[in-house]
Amino acid sequence: MRALKLVGPGQLELQEVPVPEIGDDDILVKVAAAGLCHSDLHILHQGAQWPFFGTTMGHETSGHVEAKGANVTKFDVGDPVLVRAVWACGECRPCRLGRENACAVNGSRSMFPLTPGLAVDGGMADYIRVAAQHADPLGEIDPDTAAPLADAGLTPMHAIKSSRHLLDDGATAVVIGFGGLGHMAVQILAADTDATIIVIEPDEAKRAAALKAGAAVTLAPDADVVATILDRTDGYGVDVVYDFVGAQGTLDTAAAVVAPEGAVRVVGLADGALTVYASLEGERLPWGVDVQRAYGGTSVDQTDVLRLVANGSIAVETVTYPLTEARQAFDDLEAGRIQGRAVLIP
Ligand SMILES: [Zn+2]
Ligand SMILES: [Zn+2]
Repeated sequence: MRALKLVGPGQLELQEVPVPEIGDDDILVKVAAAGLCHSDLHILHQGAQWPFFGTTMGHETSGHVEAKGANVTKFDVGDPVLVRAVWACGECRPCRLGRENACAVNGSRSMFPLTPGLAVDGGMADYIRVAAQHADPLGEIDPDTAAPLADAGLTPMHAIKSSRHLLDDGATAVVIGFGGLGHMAVQILAADTDATIIVIEPDEAKRAAALKAGAAVTLAPDADVVATILDRTDGYGVDVVYDFVGAQGTLDTAAAVVAPEGAVRVVGLADGALTVYASLEGERLPWGVDVQRAYGGTSVDQTDVLRLVANGSIAVETVTYPLTEARQAFDDLEAGRIQGRAVLIP
């Protein structure tokens, strides 16, 4: 079978490799689609010290069960499945409390839990092997477009649920970046909350799409953006900011528009910093602001995403590339040319 391997800094190679053998608790999934995430670009640009060269890329995977191990009762051969992005142990204390994205066994204080496409082979291939516990049945959901639900659906869902108590009728939420995760976040906010949604996005076509997805207002990230947002909220600020970029400029905007007792969810990985000053002086966050460096989500969050897709409340917008054109997809994502989520089709 073919697998897209990261072989060195910036170097991808579509290699011919054996189909993985499965154990008693595993399923072999024939990949229908594999989503391409901004974090894949971060992985692509790691230096020579990166420990995971040789791994197949891809942490958003959907497909059909091709074969199953002797102990697997959850799936039948042929079932459409979503492979999770968070491979938690399921048994440690955080996992038992439903906080699988903070798993203490398959993750650590500095590293999130095991993720396909990083330390183990991911879904940018003809087949992926996964323990049945790390897959969800898709039911009626089309596997050809479902792959991004494993991250672009899951991660915004988790960030929104952790701040959901602030999003009553009359609340305002700001979404920074209408890319793969942002376009799902806006739909989830529109489906599951009464908040007024403001989207900050530099690309004009993406701003137009954000309005269709449920945003009330879209703004370009120009010099007036903070003043405009504060103006709309009578100077008080917005209840929650979801930053799907994470650059210094976007985090500065988040800090400048969030309301007292509001929340900032930092999801993007563009290397910015949000400083909490413990002082009465100078520039500072309003009192009571809750900042979270949001990572992934839980199995319940994944179920919630699948529920919203199944009932038609949200949908992934995909741009498809054949697996053989993966490099083009990476380049297009890097250049900002993807609206919605790029998926690779083996
Ligand atoms: Zn991702
Ligand atoms: Zn665990």
